[in-house]
Amino acid sequence: MSDNIIHLVLARLPDSPKDVKGISLFIVPKFLINEDGSLGERNPVSCGALEHKMGIKANATAVINLDGAKGYLIGEVNKGLACMFTMMNAARLGCGMQGLGLGEAAFQGALAYAKERLQMRALNGPKAPEKAADPIIVHPDVRRMLLTQKAYTEAGRAFTAFLALQLDIEEKSPDAEARQEAADLVALLTPVAKAFMTDNGYLATNLGMQVFGGHGFIREWGMEQLVRDCRISQIYEGTNGIQAIDLLGRKVLMDQGQKLRKFTKRIHKFCEANSADSRLTPFLEPLNGLNKQMAEITMQIGMGAMMNKDEAGAAATDYLRLVGHLTYGYFWAWMAKVALEKLDAGSAETGFYEAKVKTAQFYFSKLFPEIHSLIVTLKAGAKPLMDLEEDHFAF
Ligand SMILES: Cc1cc2nc3c(=O)[nH]c(=O)nc-3n(C[C@H](O)[C@H](O)[C@H](O)COP(=O)(O)OP(=O)(O)OC[C@H]3O[C@@H](n4cnc5c(N)ncnc54)[C@H](O)[C@@H]3O)c2cc1C
Repeated sequence: MSDNIIHLVLARLPDSPKDVKGISLFIVPKFLINEDGSLGERNPVSCGALEHKMGIKANATAVINLDGAKGYLIGEVNKGLACMFTMMNAARLGCGMQGLGLGEAAFQGALAYAKERLQMRALNGPKAPEKAADPIIVHPDVRRMLLTQKAYTEAGRAFTAFLALQLDIEEKSPDAEARQEAADLVALLTPVAKAFMTDNGYLATNLGMQVFGGHGFIREWGMEQLVRDCRISQIYEGTNGIQAIDLLGRKVLMDQGQKLRKFTKRIHKFCEANSADSRLTPFLEPLNGLNKQMAEITMQIGMGAMMNKDEAGAAATDYLRLVGHLTYGYFWAWMAKVALEKLDAGSAETGFYEAKVKTAQFYFSKLFPEIHSLIVTLKAGAKPLMDLEEDHFAF
């Protein structure tokens, strides 16, 4: 389909260090280029196979064989990983969007199904007495699943719009301080966007399958494909475990929490500016409570990690989820504020804005409280993970 193909390849030169500090980036073309720019000799780089994957099957993943192929260095020797990060940060945000989009698609399917599928009666008496049974959307447990999908996807949308705005500010603002602040927020929140949105996306696709009951497991209904397609988003572009280590290690502890403080300061200001509106108290109180605890929790992990580095590794995944809820809590409180203002101003879209406020109530009552168990497990530290002898795992 094209005259030439180039591959960006990470490889180690023979005398380079054996760890990630010894990786360089190369460009490996299918056809070598002659002096005059015309296509030359065939470079021995070839597609060895296409992988058989669990999902994203229309997107071919290839095994590439490099049989003594010639590559050309891009950038400096041993700086390949830094070069690759030019692509990785954008790819991580894109990957988060993949989780978000698949969660949204699952929600749309599940919502339509829940309104149509008739099964049993509402616990408080029939809601559709003219029908043989009530639609399953009347059941609290089905509503739990739908609202979890809705709350995570709508917060994810607000989050990605916010990040897109920060990217624009980082690139285009004439104010150097604003550019730096935006760059810091993007750096801090990129691993959160990648991991929290894909973990929640996977949860949302699984809930979509569950709302469909037995049909969810049957291929024709489309839900199982969303689950399979979403699963890779937690693995590639750096596993979510690695995102968590990046957040806690590189983005938070390495700069003594400076970037995190920029974010918590912003949330603190938001809570303060809106404290007079008592309708927002159920949202602002828990948000402000977590926001105030972040410094202490982070410091505790940092102190523990100074004595034993495993303390940071043990805390990372819970920590990322905690920052995820801090972020979504901020956006749900913000969305509720805007919705109440619109309703006060007599907006004609009352259903839309009332739904925003009620979904914020659901989020803060049913999803945000996960922070309490996260804080407990974070504080349990590395010992319960590291105590078991490797040989004893099999017993
Ligand atoms: C469909 C598909 C497409 C892909 N496309 C590309 C592509 O285009 N370009 C490309 O370069 N790569 C691509 N990859 C590779 C992908 O990015 C990696 O598979 C992924 O980043 C995970 O790395 P790994 O497989 O080496 O896992 P490993 O690093 O072996 O990790 C295995 C497990 O150990 C954990 N782990 C590893 N190290 C640590 C640590 N220090 N602390 C805590 N936990 C740890 C991980 O979180 C994971 O759970 C693709 C993979 C797939 C499946």
